[in-house]
Amino acid sequence: MNDKDKIYIVGHKNPDTDSVCSAIGYAHFLREGGEDAVAARSGDVNPETWYVLDYFGFEPPQLLQDAGGKKVILVDHNEASQSPDNIDNAEIIGVLDHHRINFAQWSPIYFHTEPLGSTATIIAREYLYGDVELPKEIAGILLSSILSDTVVFKSPTTTQEDMDIAEMLAEIAEIDNIEEFGIDVKRAKASIKGKSAKDVIFSDFKDFNFSGKKVGIGQIEIVGFDETDEAQQELISELNAIQKSEGYSLLVLMATNIMEECSRLLVVGEKSYVERAFGKYVKDNVVYLPNVMSRKKDIVAPLEKVF
Ligand code: MN
Ligand code: MN
Repeated sequence: MNDKDKIYIVGHKNPDTDSVCSAIGYAHFLREGGEDAVAARSGDVNPETWYVLDYFGFEPPQLLQDAGGKKVILVDHNEASQSPDNIDNAEIIGVLDHHRINFAQWSPIYFHTEPLGSTATIIAREYLYGDVELPKEIAGILLSSILSDTVVFKSPTTTQEDMDIAEMLAEIAEIDNIEEFGIDVKRAKASIKGKSAKDVIFSDFKDFNFSGKKVGIGQIEIVGFDETDEAQQELISELNAIQKSEGYSLLVLMATNIMEECSRLLVVGEKSYVERAFGKYVKDNVVYLPNVMSRKKDIVAPLEKVF
């Protein structure tokens, strides 16, 4: 096959487990259908994803930093600001995603988004209800993606379908206790200890454009706020520095306590947007939000409304 026909399946920058494993899962699916598809990633693999890949016997997919001139299918995102560099010069032939839609392209393409807990749920369904056989290892990484994105079904983004499909995947992957396995996956995500403030902020970070304003929202998952207490002032100083040097209107780091199902936001820049979105006063750059776990549903959605 001509290299020009090669299709790169790639997720968002600062890839998470869903971005990496959905790319692997969908590339395999397309190859079974005769396409020259290859999984790619647009950044370093995080410790949680390493754990998952290692567990099921995969290597990280190839790095695709510059998408220029390539045929690509985007998974787990559809916003150009989150894609590999030079995406404007790529040929996007498809999108599979579960996030808000911020995509503009005039030519008709295969565009599939659904309000589900993970992209992996969509891809698993293609296998489970289609003709392509689902290998045990791919079932395992797709299951891991669902568990990762839904924080073991605790996130408000979780749907019944995510849980049903996870059940089917667990059977194929021979995972007896889904919840226990899910907690192992989440635990593999390294705590913030030993990392620089900058690395913590950018470990899971997304750029947004709200009515022409540049907004950045990072998220870390912790099992107790004592993990961040010590580093809090340093994180706020670093956020301030990044906000100024990169020209953010608003920059937020969301520390989500996955045990207590709540978040603490560290906020710099135009704090009034956060105050209006959540009806709470941001005191010394910090605001506590009970029952908030999902960046997409609990933060991005209300915040976008006030811009
Ligand atoms: Mn993702
Ligand atoms: Mn996802």
